[in-house]
Amino acid sequence: MKTSIIAVGTELLFGQVVNTNAAYLSENLNHMGFDVMYHFVVGDNPGRLRAKLAEAFEDTDLVLLTGGLGPTQDDLTKEIVAEYMGAELYRDEKVAEDLKSFFEKRGGHMADNNLKQAYLPVGCTPLYNASGTAPGFALSKNGKTAVCFPGPPRELKWLFENGAKQYLEQFMEKKMFYRVIRTIGIGESDLETLLMPLIDGQTDPTIATYAKEGECSLRVASQRDTAEEAEAAVDEMTARINELAGRYIYSYDDEELVEVVVRLLKEKHLTVAAAESATGGKFAAAITDVAGASEVMKYSYVTYSNEAKISMVGVPAETIDTYGVVSPQTAEAMAAGAKKVSGADIAVSVTGYAGPDADEGHNAGEAYIGYAYEGGSGAVSVNTSRNMRKWNRNYFMLRMLRTVYLLLTDGPEPENGSKKQ
Ligand code: ATP
Repeated sequence: MKTSIIAVGTELLFGQVVNTNAAYLSENLNHMGFDVMYHFVVGDNPGRLRAKLAEAFEDTDLVLLTGGLGPTQDDLTKEIVAEYMGAELYRDEKVAEDLKSFFEKRGGHMADNNLKQAYLPVGCTPLYNASGTAPGFALSKNGKTAVCFPGPPRELKWLFENGAKQYLEQFMEKKMFYRVIRTIGIGESDLETLLMPLIDGQTDPTIATYAKEGECSLRVASQRDTAEEAEAAVDEMTARINELAGRYIYSYDDEELVEVVVRLLKEKHLTVAAAESATGGKFAAAITDVAGASEVMKYSYVTYSNEAKISMVGVPAETIDTYGVVSPQTAEAMAAGAKKVSGADIAVSVTGYAGPDADEGHNAGEAYIGYAYEGGSGAVSVNTSRNMRKWNRNYFMLRMLRTVYLLLTDGPEPENGSKKQ
């Protein structure tokens, strides 16, 4: 079904508030199989809202509106939608009661204008709002439907999950099933090339690739007569994707890489430690962000300077002198040292140039990820060719996670520098 979204609020036009409501609705509608064709943003101006509503309904049959349902004079969305659909307003006693008890519970006085929120268009489906005061509603006429939500994002999400979604299901001609597969270690265009035999000429299931902060996700979606058929089609396509790109996939369930790593470490009763130079502790921060991390990380080291690499994790000074501080040998020695001093089962390290500058003969984004585990030690080279410090530091951290992930699953990356068994 062709759909538009209209966000109402002058603060959105001023740039004071980011239109996250439209992003939230679009993503959810898309997952349900609706075709979102337009996003509009209108200030709190009745004439312009009237015009945009008419324009949206010219091309699309479903229009979702957010904002302007509150108690103040400039909140006019409900009135304009009711006028467009030719509906009068009535006082909804449930909303009026809810409003009274809302204010009583807080021990406050309800200003008269709050009762404005108890008026809804005749013939609408009310969307009662337990997370705030303004109700939403859906109203249809001649095959055109408007669904109105209050502006506060928390209330919008609550109403979408607890009423609007169920209401919208009547318009879904087919059932949708999708899965988000997450990969690391391959760029979006290379992934697309790898999957071209499946992507080329696709109709259903569809495969879409998304790049995000050094990772790449795939969304595999199918719309069939029943949810079971859609799921079976996605499962079959997932198996084919796995054959071509399995070595880059770390989650079939839209999980974060760090969550997968912590889960695997827990399952295998293993611990991890890190010696971090360029990332300055980002790896340890990521691991400890996951609940229950204390089971899998006991120690970790920020070894930013040469002295720290030598004194904290015992990197031999000669290794740094002979090969340089950014070298596979130093990375490997950092990991081996971190494993030894921490007693962890797996240690991982990073030494590199986060940028924007690098030493002569090197470039920003060049780094080595070292690892040490019961099967040996080694290092993997990384080269982002970017001089974006923040991006590089995050990417190095993800590659450290990937290195640990591979040790926990398939063994080290094949391109490793100096693996010893
Ligand atoms: P209220 O009952 O709070 O008055 P309302 O439906 O009238 O609800 P608005 O007054 O338009 O909503 O917006 C309330 C707040 O919600 C705004 O101050 C803003 O912070 C946030 N908001 C509104 N629209 C959006 C949007 N499209 N995206 C993100 N936040 C929004």
